Amino acid sequence: MWAATARPRPESAPLRADESADVVIIGAGFTGLSTAHHLAARFPDRRIVVLEAGRIGNGASGRNGGMVLNWIHGAELSDPDRSRRIFGVTRAAIDDLEALVAAHPGRVRFRRDGCLEAVTDTRRAEEAHADAEKLASWGLPVTWLSGDALRQRLRSERVVGAVLDPTAGQMHGLDLLHLRYDLAAALGVTVYERTPVVAIREGKTIEVHTPGGVVRAAAMVLATNGYTPRLGYFRRGLFPLHSHVFATEPQSAETWARVGWSGAAGFSDDLDRIAYFSMTPDGRLLAGGGSNTSYGYRWNDATAWKGSAARGHEAVARTLHRYLPGAAELPVAQRWTGTLGITMSRTCTMGVRGAHRNVYFALGYSGHGVVLANLAGKVLADLYADHHEPWADLPFYQHRIGGIPGEPLRFVGYHAYTALTGRSPRKNHA
Ligand SMILES: Cc1cc2nc3c(=O)[nH]c(=O)nc-3n(C[C@H](O)[C@H](O)[C@H](O)COP(=O)(O)OP(=O)(O)OC[C@H]3O[C@@H](n4cnc5c(N)ncnc54)[C@H](O)[C@@H]3O)c2cc1C
Repeated sequence: MWAATARPRPESAPLRADESADVVIIGAGFTGLSTAHHLAARFPDRRIVVLEAGRIGNGASGRNGGMVLNWIHGAELSDPDRSRRIFGVTRAAIDDLEALVAAHPGRVRFRRDGCLEAVTDTRRAEEAHADAEKLASWGLPVTWLSGDALRQRLRSERVVGAVLDPTAGQMHGLDLLHLRYDLAAALGVTVYERTPVVAIREGKTIEVHTPGGVVRAAAMVLATNGYTPRLGYFRRGLFPLHSHVFATEPQSAETWARVGWSGAAGFSDDLDRIAYFSMTPDGRLLAGGGSNTSYGYRWNDATAWKGSAARGHEAVARTLHRYLPGAAELPVAQRWTGTLGITMSRTCTMGVRGAHRNVYFALGYSGHGVVLANLAGKVLADLYADHHEPWADLPFYQHRIGGIPGEPLRFVGYHAYTALTGRSPRKNHA
């Protein structure tokens, strides 16, 4: 749907000869292109090259739910200063995105009228209500909605109450990537599309091998999120999980009113197999998640979805219709599947590694990457400048990820665990 509704852009040529660069970035999603853009703006004399296996936005950045969310997944929120700090970082990142969009009118479809976290059980509603009041008393702009205030935005028998974050929103990810590409290219960045990296040799000069040539660079950025284990990195830290999604055609305001949803860009639920629903700026309903079947794990970290995703899409539809029965009348226009990079703690990691401290990485956003993967560009540009201090206190900074067994235990364990418990494996179940 994002690809079908984005303004077409000509494809960049693949790499066809050897190259030298100061920085080679692998992957042209939010992480890769925001990093290219920030590095090029800060280091105009450096040669920056991006290698992308498919087209720009081939990964999760071109396939997501579009929800522009605050918070860092998995971070503890028991301390007022810590909570304000974490919320402040993501809110500033959303403000930056909004400013970027505003500076280039007509390029990126974006709405910022809030997202809801819907609570589906009375006991959890009491806890969520108390938590929202606590956060509000610490100065954070979240509000607990129930009764009429909730029904004005979401009329669903299943939803007992919801936390509204009015600073969240919804964005067309491919619009944003195409804008980032134009801005980075104008600063001298070269993006090679259809250029898969097949091997990496680390050293003071890193060699990155592709079918068309080798890029030799003083530094490398892994911007491959859920695909990273296939390059031999973070094999025990990152779990590529596939989420099946569909979207309708644009709907009129009357249809939305009949379906029972208005005035919030998205909502997700409080269940472990999280269900998420977005209202795009042009009025489409997008739905994903909600059950074991709506998420898939493929043997040995395979990221291409070769099997039929039909059962996954049917499961998503059943979940949507349980929340909003009126949505069953809306024909589905597009169905697709995207790859998430999940960590056991659900917290992402950003940092630098390698014997020569020249391998930069930002990944493992676990469904919260629209904001964080765009923030990653700013973080990695700072780390590249050896300026760690602005980020060193944040949960993602050099965060160690691990705890995922190798195959065959990974495949068997995941499917046995999810079938028996209905939950997704994780450390620190909240
Ligand atoms: C279905 C779905 C729904 C989501 N919904 C939301 C949401 O509503 N809100 C939210 O905040 N987050 C959401 N996310 C998460 C978010 O989209 C991701 O965290 C984010 O896009 C990650 O960006 P990235 O650039 O790090 O990775 P990606 O966008 O996955 O980019 C990685 C790129 O690397 C390329 N690549 C891989 N291997 C190679 C190689 N060997 N050589 C060259 N290139 C390679 C890929 O082709 C890809 O383009 C969702 C994700 C999915 C899948």
